[in-house]
Amino acid sequence: MSVLYDVEPGQLCEECWLPVASPAVARQGWRSLVWCRLCAKRVGLSLIADEREATLARDPQPHWRNRVVAAVRHRLQVEERLPAA
Ligand SMILES: [Zn+2]
Repeated sequence: MSVLYDVEPGQLCEECWLPVASPAVARQGWRSLVWCRLCAKRVGLSLIADEREATLARDPQPHWRNRVVAAVRHRLQVEERLPAA
């Protein structure tokens, strides 16, 4: 990940698909990804939360597995309450 100070005109955010203004956040890999600053923060926080959930899900102690199941259950309930897109 890096800060991209010279965004190409017409570049769209990988997450919200709105035009990106400089500076933005980019990842150079087999495919270049560019996010607007707001989406970069959201994606980063989501990645951290997902990594934590994945790590806890592999923990052999049932305590952590139960917490992950509860977190997933809560998230599904929240999503079910959201109006259809
Ligand atoms: Zn965005």
